[in-house]
Amino acid sequence: MEMNFQYFVPVHIISGANCVREYASAMRTFGGRVLIVTGKSSAKNGALEDAVYALKQNGQKFTVYDEVPNNPTVASVYKGAEEARRFGAEFIVAIGGGSPMDAAKAIAMLARQEAKEGIFDHPITDDVLPMVHIPTTAGTGSEVTPYAIITNDEKQTKTSISAPSLFPRLAYLDGKYMEDLPQSVTVNTAIDALSHAVEGMLSVRAGNMSDLFAKESIRIILSEYESLRTGHYTLQTRQNLLYGSTLAGMVIANTGTTPVHGMGYSLTYFHGVPHGRANGLLLPAFLKSCLEKSPERTRQIYDALHMTPDAFCKAMDDLLGKREKYDDETLRNYAHRASLNKNVKNCLMYFSEEDLYKVLHQSLG
Ligand code: NAP
Ligand code: FE
Repeated sequence: MEMNFQYFVPVHIISGANCVREYASAMRTFGGRVLIVTGKSSAKNGALEDAVYALKQNGQKFTVYDEVPNNPTVASVYKGAEEARRFGAEFIVAIGGGSPMDAAKAIAMLARQEAKEGIFDHPITDDVLPMVHIPTTAGTGSEVTPYAIITNDEKQTKTSISAPSLFPRLAYLDGKYMEDLPQSVTVNTAIDALSHAVEGMLSVRAGNMSDLFAKESIRIILSEYESLRTGHYTLQTRQNLLYGSTLAGMVIANTGTTPVHGMGYSLTYFHGVPHGRANGLLLPAFLKSCLEKSPERTRQIYDALHMTPDAFCKAMDDLLGKREKYDDETLRNYAHRASLNKNVKNCLMYFSEEDLYKVLHQSLG
């Protein structure tokens, strides 16, 4: 067995019903003043109340910054950092889906570092406010990754900033916050998580431990496939999907993603396709293409999925419904853009611009 690998996820994870209230004391040592970073509706599911209860119990003072938009902008994170400085925040509590959780990382960094070069070119140091993450969607795994994905208008895409100091210190996983999560968000985010696990296995940085988490993540997420298809969820289903997405986050924290994410960013940037859906539209055709390029490795993934390539296409189609369609010129442009993305080099199989175009064409042509 190949034993050359690295694995690093320095996050204290606390999972279970009511864990924020029950384990409030885990936040005690991070400081006395807190900036809570969230979005408009991601604060309305009980998570904000629980966090406030816990902080009060610890005697910590807080203020709320709830202006993070979906697909966070540069302006929104600068504003949040200003709020953090003004309030004298010593740590950050992030509540929400990937958007507030990612924004919180950039805010925690900008609160302490000037980033004169702009956030995308700034070499991030270790001087970052400590962060506590409370996911309210089950998809991005941002609570256990060192990535913050911010909309980059200059390059017309979404750009990931990353550094070891952007790992949250603590993540609370409570599926009850997802009880009223709309069906479309539930499905899209579950697909994002599944895509992370699969893409992690396609990464040049994949190793024994990341494979272990990836396979377990795939197993757990697909064990809830019928719930995802029919839209019927129990609290246990919600907790399972959340656990599966955190496991997938632990995968990409070490492996990064592949051209599926690279291509998906154009769909989100130019057409507002939700992030997880964008990945889901592309993943089946991408995986089929991987099978041609590297059959042995790709078969391991289909084995983990317990599906044939065609069955996987059908399973994803049943979740995605009617597909978006784009003309050839548009898809050629997205293939070109994806070919410049660094996650092309991160993939075990080589995908030329023409290969990427073929995947885009099969998926969306
Ligand atoms: P999101 O943009 O955070 O949230 C989607 C929508 O769901 C928002 O309208 C949000 O409300 C709402 N919402 C969130 N929690 C809810 C709840 N419990 N009940 C009801 N509504 C709720 O979506 P996401 O898919 O979780 O995150 C996507 C972002 O994460 C993208 O920017 C993507 O690029 C990034 N991402 C990051 C990583 C990483 O490693 N860091 C990995 C993959 C993706 P609000 O408007 O109030 O927020
Ligand atoms: Fe993702």
